[in-house]
Formats: sequence, structure tokens, C-alpha cells
Amino acid sequence: MAEPNVSLAQDEFSCSVCLDLLKDPVTISCGHSFCMVCINGFWDQEDQKKIYSCPHCRHTFTSRPVVSKNTMLAEVVEKLKKTRLQAAPPDHSSADPEDV
Ligand SMILES: [Zn+2]
Ligand SMILES: [Zn+2]
Repeated sequence: MAEPNVSLAQDEFSCSVCLDLLKDPVTISCGHSFCMVCINGFWDQEDQKKIYSCPHCRHTFTSRPVVSKNTMLAEVVEKLKKTRLQAAPPDHSSADPEDV
């Protein structure tokens, strides 16, 4: 399984389950963040196995972790969404003329 090659910082704010920007981001104890609905849906499926894992790093939890909304992350994602809706700003490298 090859990891998709991600280059954008935006990836840090994406959910490994739906691969989109976090929606109602929650952070679990291994430090990874997911949409509230995604992680709950993921764990609902694992419920039968009585084992819960992080969809990102496969860290397993013996009991279903309590997730709480990461409000700080939510704000960052909101801002990111707004900038993503607009046209991406041209990434012209700041001219630093080291000329003669
Ligand atoms: Zn998601
Ligand atoms: Zn993890």
C-alpha cells in the first residue's frame, strides 16, 4: 500500500477516512485528527471486534476513546476552507535579487 504523495500543508488538516478537510475535527489520543462523523463511523464498524484503532497510524485502543471536538483545529480548517474556495494565490517565490 503506497501512501498517496501529498505535498500540501493542507494534508495536515485532512481526514484520513474521507480524505477531505476535517469537518468537526476531533483529535484522538495518538495525536491524529479526524472528522467527528468519520471516526465515529469507523469505530462503529470496529465495535463488533471490540477493538478500536486509529485509521491513520493503526494505533489500537482497547476501549473506545472519548473524542472531543478540537475547536482550535476547527477554526484553522474553517480559515483553510475559505482560502481554498478562493483561487489559490500564485506562488511566486519572493524575488531576492542577489545581483551585481
Ligand atoms: Zn473525514
Ligand atoms: Zn493515529
